Amino acid sequence: MIIDAHLHTSGQETTDGVLQSLDEAGVDIAFLLAPFLTAPYSLNDRASLRAGNRYLSELVKHQPDRLVGFAVVNPLHPQAAGDIEEAAGLPGIRALKMVPTGWYPYDDCAHRVYEVAARLELPILFHSGIFIDGRSGRYCRPSFYEAVRDHPGLRVTLAHLGWPWCDEANAVGVIDRINGVAPAESQFRFDLSFGPPPIYRAEVFRKALDVIGPRSLQFGSDRFLPCPGAHIRSAVDEVTELLDELGVTHNDREAIMGGTAADWLRLPEAKEIA
Ligand SMILES: [Zn+2]
Repeated sequence: MIIDAHLHTSGQETTDGVLQSLDEAGVDIAFLLAPFLTAPYSLNDRASLRAGNRYLSELVKHQPDRLVGFAVVNPLHPQAAGDIEEAAGLPGIRALKMVPTGWYPYDDCAHRVYEVAARLELPILFHSGIFIDGRSGRYCRPSFYEAVRDHPGLRVTLAHLGWPWCDEANAVGVIDRINGVAPAESQFRFDLSFGPPPIYRAEVFRKALDVIGPRSLQFGSDRFLPCPGAHIRSAVDEVTELLDELGVTHNDREAIMGGTAADWLRLPEAKEIA
C-alpha cells in the first residue's frame, strides 16, 4: 500500500482526474491539502481559505477510502478556531494543514488553534524548514513545534524533515524514543517530501531512519494537482531508489510508504501493516 501523505490541490481538480492520477502513480490513498498557494486562494484571505476547504470537501467526500481532506487555517485570523470547527463539519475533512508565516508555532494564536484541533482530534501537517518560494523560513524551525507537547493527544507531522534543519527535526523526534514512547503513541511524525537537494538526501534519510525510525517517517510527494500520475510516480521512485541504496528492509519500507501515515490518521489500513 502506498499513501501519498502530502499532495496539494490547486482548485482546478476533478475527483475522477485525481483518482486517475493516483491510479497511474500506483498510489492507493492520498492526503489532499486544500488550495492556498494558487489564485484566488491565499493564506492572507480568510474567505478564500474557507472556500478552499469547502472545495476540497466536495472533491474528496465521495471517496473516503482513497482521499483524505486536509483543511487549511491561518491562526493570524482571529476567527481561526471557528474556521476549524466549520472545516471539521465538512464531509471528508479529517485533518489540518498549517504554514507558519507571520506567526511562530509557539505563539498564543497557534495554541488556540491546537486546542481546537486536539479537541476535535484533527491531526496537523505543518510546513517545516525553508520555503522554496522566497518567503522567510524563520518561523518554521523544527524545535518551535515542541509547543505542540502542551496539547497531549494532538498528533502532528513536520514536512520536509525540516530541511535544512534536519538534525533539529531528528532531535525533536528522538525525545520520544529516549523516553520510551512508541512511534504510534508519539505526537510527532516527519514527512519525506523533498527538501534536501539530491546530494544531501541519502545522508539525511540515513540519519532520520536511524534516529527517529521508519515508523515515524512517511512518504509525501509534495506534488501539485492536477498533474499526470507520472509526476507523482517520479516522487515515489526517487524515495524507493534511496531506500534501495540504504538497504531498508521490506517491513520498514511498508511503514515509510504507507503504514506510518495510515497509523497517523488512524485509517483502517493501519492494522494491516502492524
Ligand atoms: Zn507542500
